[in-house]
Formats: sequence, structure tokens, C-alpha cells
Amino acid sequence: MEQEKEWNFQGNEELNASAVSVRGVFNTLLANLNKQDQRPLLRLCRADPTDFSCFRTTPVAPDAIASAAQSFSFNCYPPTVGLLEARRAVAEHLSSDLPFQLSPDDVYITIGCTQAINIMISVLARPGANILLPRPGYPQYEARAACNGLEVRHFDLLPERGWEIDIDALEDLADENSVAMAIINPSNPCGNVFTYQHLKRVAETARKLGIFVITDEVYAHMTFGSNPFVPMGVFASIVPVITLGSLGKRWLVPGWRLGWIVTCDPNGIFQKTGVVTNIKNYLDITTDTPTIMQAAIPQILKKTEDEFFAHNLDIMRECADIFYVRCKEIPCLICPHKPESTLTVMVQMNFSKIEGIIDDVDFCVKLIKEESVVLLPGVTVGLKNWLRISFTAEPSALEDALSRIKAFSLRHMPKCHTSSV
Ligand SMILES: *Cc1c(COP(=O)(O)O)cnc(C)c1O
Repeated sequence: MEQEKEWNFQGNEELNASAVSVRGVFNTLLANLNKQDQRPLLRLCRADPTDFSCFRTTPVAPDAIASAAQSFSFNCYPPTVGLLEARRAVAEHLSSDLPFQLSPDDVYITIGCTQAINIMISVLARPGANILLPRPGYPQYEARAACNGLEVRHFDLLPERGWEIDIDALEDLADENSVAMAIINPSNPCGNVFTYQHLKRVAETARKLGIFVITDEVYAHMTFGSNPFVPMGVFASIVPVITLGSLGKRWLVPGWRLGWIVTCDPNGIFQKTGVVTNIKNYLDITTDTPTIMQAAIPQILKKTEDEFFAHNLDIMRECADIFYVRCKEIPCLICPHKPESTLTVMVQMNFSKIEGIIDDVDFCVKLIKEESVVLLPGVTVGLKNWLRISFTAEPSALEDALSRIKAFSLRHMPKCHTSSV
């Protein structure tokens, strides 16, 4: 008898590590849903506003797709860097907030901001290099870095300072192998917006450390508090900046997968250091953004009316107000900073006000079981025993979810507390 040959596949360990993704955790939590519960399942765990019907895109957007399709001009493969019309439209759109003019050559069209992240991590990954990432953050960065063998070092965002970056610690973290730092502004998961002064300090620190800044501005202009949105590109003459963005969140079409990478770099550092060549080389071997979708970008950017954005921000502001007031009534949760941008906020668990729950994951498992509400355990975004709440829901659904969380919290109060209530 011949010995059967063993299969050689051993699995990619890093892909298992990257199973710590928002989607992975959501699927795990969903398995705990009590199917007997007649109430609707309330999902406050994703950064997808279209989960609720009050958030609907402008008719300008489907019209643009329809006319692109009906023209029969965009059935071809696109250029790997993106359609010139689309690149020009994004360059013009972003330049209106910058002290210099972007050229279409600064723009690369990607399959959502997710692919933009993936490309930049791959471009930066060389053996021994490291990237500085925010904690809490957006797990896509960590997952991709792990798959590419790029070392991650975390700098903290400080809740007591409105989630500003711990800039002093940043300096201690970096070494001669640090290639870049990434920021997310406005912030997912914290819901804060960095000030002009803070961003300027970030730029100066990065310059001192000799590292590029990648800025994830998927929530650009989606602010409703006292800090206006300032693009990091404003400081590109201090330090070269890679801006990542997409239409998904602001235009309420995350499923359309339209994003971009933009080099904001009036001094031509990215050209000189080979970053630009690397991005192009990567795009030559990856999947293109569908041509028809790209062809719709110019019309969508030019024709969307301000009222569309204003209307959405009104609802989101209302959500933030409801959230902040109602969250204070929930004994076991502490919200250190009222959200001033979309779509998520971080709250800390107060263990002195809750019993029989061991950590954030346990909290989320029991919450979905007992109340059919889904929150994201903070550990998924880097902060154990915190929770990330997507507060931009239909206002009535948000009220409902917060009442259920309150009922859950009261039910799990330590006994000595309940008797005195
Ligand atoms: C949603 C999100 C993305 C992904 O954007 P897509 O355009 O949907 O790929 C990237 N970064 C942050 C911070 C996000 O919240």
C-alpha cells in the first residue's frame, strides 16, 4: 500500500489574526440572537448609515450611473490609475479646501477607501518597516498590515483630551524604520474632529520624525460640532500627505465602492522617494474600479446640492443629541466626549455599576441575547472594555435601542445598588 501524500496547505496565520474584523465580530455576535424575541434586531455596530431608511442618497447619484451606462462609452477596462474625468473631478473637489491646486495626476481611483488602505499598506510594507496607527482605530489597517508583514505600533487617542493624539508618546514610538503614521479625521470610532492647531502639530511632529502622514478622510465635512473639518492636506508643505477618501459615507452609497488615494505634496517628495511609482505598480496588478462607476464621479461631485448634505447632517446632529442625553441615563456606560461627527462614538464600561459581565465581548453577547441590540466590542477597535456605538440610526430606532440598553444595565446592576434605587 502506498502512503497517501499529505496536503501541503498550512493556512495563512495572519489571515486568522485578521479575523478580528468588524464583519467577523458581527457574525459571531449574531449567532447569539434570541430567535424568540419578537422585537426588531437593532444594529448599532456598523458604520453603514444605509442600515436605516432615513439615510438615502441623492437622486443625482443613480442618475449619473444611469447616464454613464446608457452612453455605451464606459464598457471598456479603465486605465489602471482611473478615468481621467474622474481623477480631474476628485482633484477639483478636494482642491477647493486646500491652499494649492491638485492635479488629476495626484489622484488614483480605488474600489472604496478600503482598497485605498490596502494599497497604501502594501506600498509601505518592506521587511523591517513599521507604521504608526491610532488606538482606538479602524481594524482594516491592522489586518492588512498583518497580511503584509508590516509592523504596527500604536499611539493613543486620549479620551480626556477629546480624543486628541498623544503627540509626545508618538515621538517615543517612532524609530528609523518608521515609514508613516495614519490618522482618521473626522474619527471613526471616536466621533471627534481634530482642530487646525492639533493637525499642524501632527504635521510638524511627522516632519521631525521623517515620516509621511496618511489621512483617512472618509468622513470629510460630516461634522456638526464646534470644530470644522480641516483636511490634513492643508499642511502638505510641512509634511507630504496621502489623503484617502470615498463617496460611500457622505453620499450614503457605501456599496458603490468608489474611493481614492490622493498625493498632497507640493514639494514632490512622493515622486522623489518612489512612492508614486510604487502606487502605480501596485495598481497595475490589482483589480480596477468598474469604469461605469468611475464615469459617474464627475456628475455626482458637481451636481449634488448642499441641501442634501445639510439634511443628512441635521438628522445626524439630532442622533448625537439623543444619544448623549440618553446615554447619561445608562448607569454602566460613560461617554467621555459627545460625538461631533459621524458615525460612531466610544463609550466606556463602568464595572462598579454592572454585575455578572466580565468584559466588553461578554457585554455585547448578553446584550444581543437579552435585548436584540448589537454593539461592537471595543476590543475590535483596540480598546478593551469599551464599546463602539454607531449612533447614526433612525432617531426612533436609536431611542428604542438606548431604552433597551438602559433596561439591560438596570437588570445587571450590582445587588446593593438595586435595593437603593
Ligand atoms: C467606512 C470606512 C472606510 C471604508 O470606506 P469604503 O469606501 O466603504 O471602503 C475606511 N476608513 C474608515 C475610517 C471608515 O469608517
